[in-house]
Amino acid sequence: MTPVEQLRTTLAALSLTAIDARLEGLLETASKKEPSYADFLLEVMNTEADVRRQRYLKARLQLAHLPYIKTFEQFDFGFQPSIDERQIRELRTLRFVHEASNVILLGPPGVGKTHLAVALAETAIQSGNGAYFMTAHDLVTDLGRAYREGRLDRRMRVYLAPKVLIIDEMGYLPLDDLGATIFFQLVSARYERGSIVLTSNKSYGEWGSIFGDPIIATAILDRLLHHSTTINIRGESYRLKERRKAGLIPLPDQQHDEPPALAHRSHTKRNQLP
Ligand code: ADP
Ligand code: MG
Repeated sequence: MTPVEQLRTTLAALSLTAIDARLEGLLETASKKEPSYADFLLEVMNTEADVRRQRYLKARLQLAHLPYIKTFEQFDFGFQPSIDERQIRELRTLRFVHEASNVILLGPPGVGKTHLAVALAETAIQSGNGAYFMTAHDLVTDLGRAYREGRLDRRMRVYLAPKVLIIDEMGYLPLDDLGATIFFQLVSARYERGSIVLTSNKSYGEWGSIFGDPIIATAILDRLLHHSTTINIRGESYRLKERRKAGLIPLPDQQHDEPPALAHRSHTKRNQLP
């Protein structure tokens, strides 16, 4: 056996598959560039380490149960001027994750709340944090079932373990008494221990109607908001813009049905629409 053949056997025995896959290239580059022994060894080890890291991150992303993967780079901040980009930059440092503080994204449908929540989760995962995504409705349904089956505490751990828990679409559907109590328990248990990123189409003033009880709504908001950042998005739906672009919906008459937030947008931008 040649040394390279022996090497392949050893790489296979140690499951160093990434090095094995790139072995020829690595050896060829080394014979051309003649790096130091240490540099060569580093290059070889990094080949394996990089692939493993990517695989690990991919697994973490899958575990996070995200509805789709979207990043901050894919977000057009120009379209949503009500978002303070400094606030977003601060969130992207992930200080909020280390401080176990919460992020609340409020606004009407289609303005990018879920997109930004997913982008935050993706950023957290890339830095090695666990994240888990659930809609408020699915979360409460799941925990409600666990409660009825007498295993609430055990099931609750699924939602307490990740550093970042994303609760999407709070407030689309009202919660019954059990749902409200369970939600309160969850928020209390994560309080100062792990971050919640929550999206809602309801302003804080309307939260009483989600829980049917202003007292529990206040208790939940109290814990949720104590350490938190609120991002209030007031703007047009991005989905609507896309459909308008495709010519499916006519442009609103500017004098009459245009929502006030649109008034900030420049004419040049509007004129680019077909
Ligand atoms: P919601 O506020 O209802 O959660 P989403 O985040 O789901 O809205 O956004 C709806 C769709 O529009 C998604 O595909 C999202 O990626 C896209 N989108 C929303 N806002 C923007 C934006 N400012 N730039 C790029 N894509 C956006
Ligand atoms: Mg959404």
